[in-house]
Amino acid sequence: MVETLIEDVYARKVYDSRGNPTIEVEVATTEGFGRASTPAGASTGIHEVVPFPKGGIDEAVKLVNEVIAQRIVGMDAADQVAVDGLLHEIDGTNNFSKIGGATALAISIAVAKAAASSFDMPLFQYIGGAFATEIPYPLGNVIGGGKHAGDRAPNIQEFLIIPVGAKSYAEAIEVCFKVHREAGKAIRSIDGSFAGGRGDEGAWAANISDEDALNALSKACDKVQSETGCKVVLGIDMAASSMWNSEKKVYVLRREGKVRSQDEQLNYVIEIAEKYDLRYIEDPVHEEDFEGFSRLVKSIGHKTLICGDDLFTTNASRIRRGLELRAANALIIKPNQVGTLSDAYEAVKTAKRGGLMPVMSHRSGETEDNFISHLAVGFRCPLIKTGILGGERVLKHNELIRIEEALENVKSMAELPSQLTR
Ligand code: PEP
Ligand code: MG
Repeated sequence: MVETLIEDVYARKVYDSRGNPTIEVEVATTEGFGRASTPAGASTGIHEVVPFPKGGIDEAVKLVNEVIAQRIVGMDAADQVAVDGLLHEIDGTNNFSKIGGATALAISIAVAKAAASSFDMPLFQYIGGAFATEIPYPLGNVIGGGKHAGDRAPNIQEFLIIPVGAKSYAEAIEVCFKVHREAGKAIRSIDGSFAGGRGDEGAWAANISDEDALNALSKACDKVQSETGCKVVLGIDMAASSMWNSEKKVYVLRREGKVRSQDEQLNYVIEIAEKYDLRYIEDPVHEEDFEGFSRLVKSIGHKTLICGDDLFTTNASRIRRGLELRAANALIIKPNQVGTLSDAYEAVKTAKRGGLMPVMSHRSGETEDNFISHLAVGFRCPLIKTGILGGERVLKHNELIRIEEALENVKSMAELPSQLTR
């Protein structure tokens, strides 16, 4: 047990992929070391934990170095539940508003990494054990809009693909890159003035409508599918909470200067799911509309995954409510929405028990940390959503290529639900 004794905890301010400050924490044990940094969202859910204390990052860094570190030094890094429990105890609120959820997560992940390193194990294996051998499929982001791109970009936040026919992560991500390239060409044929701009996650940010984007995506997928022989299916993240005007109770189509009623939004989702054979739809309606989610599961859930992101915010009690109402058949796991590794695991367990498929996810403002690549395998999530291009996205893809290489003969691709394989 001595090798996992925590000897030092240190925090500093670093920067994310949008150039915004965030927190990085280092944890040293007798025989190991872990470093972690927390990403940040742009289309954040209202039920997410508060990322930083009132005084911002500088206060968070000070809090870790002057208060929290001394409470954690001397603990066992292999006792993740105890460390995460102590973070809750020190904070004392139910949304990490005192120390910040970003602060808590950087500590929590750095502790897990330090423990893994003390045992000379990769993080995914430390977390998942001997049976963590399934490789997730990438949920590649090809065209971007909403809060991840400029005002003239599509209303829908993400136009996604899943290369379900791939036999490895390496093949899957290569197919994603090919579709991304082809989609760029398809966009250029729609908008001759397209200069090749990309949004926060590397997806194309173009002055085109939602329908144009869906058409460009379909065209690119058809081409790559026939060239490679790898089946690719389509999805979207509507990120509908970002479109929702809670006072007027309408969805605002910023690009067109129009609005949609709640019924119109549901009908629109059903219509495009049918027209473009969408197999995955994330946050089709806003984050408080459990009923709207349920209606969609009832009408198209047999052929399309209805995935809750802002709806659940990786929060086990919201997931339980969703299960009672049959509000989704998949969910996004974003550890920084909830603040500790143990809380994220609780969300995964609750979801799986209720038959929801977990999707491990990045944030639009990412860091150089690759922990989600390991959590996707360790928590056995069949999909990982980690954007497409840009160093902070590609490093997560590359880590999964290394993980599948490390698993060599024992690995298999994750089992996908019928909505994706039909
Ligand atoms: C998302 O909505 O799935 C997402 C990654 O966005 P953000 O990180 O901006 O909340
Ligand atoms: Mg989302």
